Amino acid sequence: MGIDLGILNYIHTSDGETVDWLDLEDEYERLRREQRTLSRKENSSNNYEKQRKEVAKIKRHLRRKVLDYQHKLTTWLVTEYDAVFVEDLDVTGMLQEDGNARNKHDAAWRQFITLLEYKGDLYGTRVVQVEARGTTKECAQCGVESEKPIWVREHSCPSCGFECDRDANASLNVLQSGFQELGLGWPESTPVETALPTDTTQVSAKRVIEAGSLGA
Ligand SMILES: [Zn+2]
Repeated sequence: MGIDLGILNYIHTSDGETVDWLDLEDEYERLRREQRTLSRKENSSNNYEKQRKEVAKIKRHLRRKVLDYQHKLTTWLVTEYDAVFVEDLDVTGMLQEDGNARNKHDAAWRQFITLLEYKGDLYGTRVVQVEARGTTKECAQCGVESEKPIWVREHSCPSCGFECDRDANASLNVLQSGFQELGLGWPESTPVETALPTDTTQVSAKRVIEAGSLGA
């Protein structure tokens, strides 16, 4: 199975599933609120110190929640599939984000891959990192590259007419690279024959947490 994690909201698998990311909006909202309060306090006053600790506490809580979810997500992936292919860090994609977002993205992705490899060892599942170059540009059906700015969410091939979701196309390319990397040739079904992600199944975060907890 190839997965694409283009933007950190969710992942997209090559068998046409999107996996929800945790909904952390409430936590982020609270963090923004407490940070605003902190910015109004006088620097190095007692109140400032107290508020700084409050902000740090929320950040810790957020980090723990994300890590916990990544644990469950990776366990779910390696128990659900025989081999999992992931893109190496997509540097080109990330260059389109500003520095801060890029660092966060980078750190979360590294943590995810480290966990995934660890779980792969644990459960005897192959985890292979494939080169990210071209995964979003290339057409999964004919291989012709076309430029796509990051906000274009559809893949529509000017050469063969193949159309699908941008991330679905990328995950299919990751799948094909993974097969080649393992010397397995081409995946059995071509993208067109695969139930193609015009109708993607949504896997809820809840299901991932339940399934991931069983194996943990
Ligand atoms: Zn094409």
